[in-house]
Amino acid sequence: MNRTLPARAAEAGWSAVRCAARLQGRLGGPGLPGGDRLPLFRLPRSHTPQGRPLLALTFDDGPDPRWTPWLLDVLAEHQVTASFFLIGRQVAAHPALAARIAAAGHRLGNHSLDHPQPFSARPAAELRRQVLVTQELIADATGVLPDLFRAPAGGWSEPVLRLLAGSGLRAVDWSVDPKDWGEPGAGRIARRLLRSRPGDVVLCHDGGGDRSGTVQAVRAVLPVLRDRGVAFATP
Ligand SMILES: [Zn+2]
Repeated sequence: MNRTLPARAAEAGWSAVRCAARLQGRLGGPGLPGGDRLPLFRLPRSHTPQGRPLLALTFDDGPDPRWTPWLLDVLAEHQVTASFFLIGRQVAAHPALAARIAAAGHRLGNHSLDHPQPFSARPAAELRRQVLVTQELIADATGVLPDLFRAPAGGWSEPVLRLLAGSGLRAVDWSVDPKDWGEPGAGRIARRLLRSRPGDVVLCHDGGGDRSGTVQAVRAVLPVLRDRGVAFATP
């Protein structure tokens, strides 16, 4: 186990044990560096104003003309700001939709050029292209240069994290996965979303499959979370 990992986690106000177990479990063993390059998977305590429970909703794999506009309407209706981790190829195909996400005030993140997996196994030059070409595509379409990156399927590695640190990008993981990518139906996604706790970074998808269940679940849970006093933040 990397000795800096729990120390860093404790400093950020996370559960050190959970942090280390989670990251190493995903990777199948040790291998992540500690220090500043550790991916963020929960909101730091400094993000929580006056003890109000805070959640970060994140949506990956878009923009997608079938689901993203519908999702944007739902978020606007409830005045919720989220983060969108965009795929470069999708941005190139739907630049106006990417611009609409930015214009609505949501945070933009980079989610690679075409979502190769396992991401961490790509050669260094390919990793660079996946990250930097997507930065250009998003900036061209939206006028915003992202400062967040999420590896496809959470495929972190030391080279990936080193590249991000050198490119001014913060690695963002997640702490709640409602597994909407498996299309389990809106009811199940909603129940999983409602189990989230203060500080969680919630992983959802607005592209890459049939996301009607995701949008319906988000529409159903936003009023419930609001009633619980939850506020929404970006990483
Ligand atoms: Zn993805």
